[in-house]
Amino acid sequence: MDINKMHNEILGNKVVEALKENYFDAIYFEDSLQAKQYILDNLKQGMKVAFGGSMTIKSMGIKEEAAKKKCVILDHGEASLTPQEKLQVMRQELISDVFLCSSNAITLQGELVNIDGAGNRVAAMTFGPEKVIIVAGINKIVMDEDEAFKRIKRIACPKNNIRLEKPNPCTKAGVCVDCKSQSRICRVYSVIKRRPSRSNMTIIVVGENLGY
Ligand code: SF4
Repeated sequence: MDINKMHNEILGNKVVEALKENYFDAIYFEDSLQAKQYILDNLKQGMKVAFGGSMTIKSMGIKEEAAKKKCVILDHGEASLTPQEKLQVMRQELISDVFLCSSNAITLQGELVNIDGAGNRVAAMTFGPEKVIIVAGINKIVMDEDEAFKRIKRIACPKNNIRLEKPNPCTKAGVCVDCKSQSRICRVYSVIKRRPSRSNMTIIVVGENLGY
């Protein structure tokens, strides 16, 4: 008997039900390979597929497969882009056919909780793309909104600061200290309580730890 697998399934399906009650489309997969296949089945040649800077999506290798399917890739995280080109791509991502990202946390009440720097990810999650697909590992599930922000400040934001090599105090403290730095990346705090009225959003919960 695999207790971890069973627990992930119970928790994952509980969140999926809560998300559906909040009018989101939601589905649980046991592992990221199944989730990846589900996403790829939704991508067609010529579609503009955007990447919202998610480590979860990156770890799944979807971009490479989308390119093989001859989708038009929009990824503002491409290292070769100049700052101006990056901004252009970020704007194009807002009107993509499919926007792929994760959520920093999902509550057991079926709410999506995120902290952004520019706000481009939460903007796209809310309105713009034809379709939004959000993938969240089981590690993103929290009890409630309060725990969601605690999780983000303890794990997601400090790790993103380290990844982006930001000179912010959380990279030394290991947790958020609500800094006043000019380089602060935590600027937009978002709670999506129900599926935004004009959006077409699917949330995939995966029974594995993905991203942070
Ligand atoms: S608010 Fe400042 S200290 Fe807190 S996680 Fe963001 S950048 Fe780091």
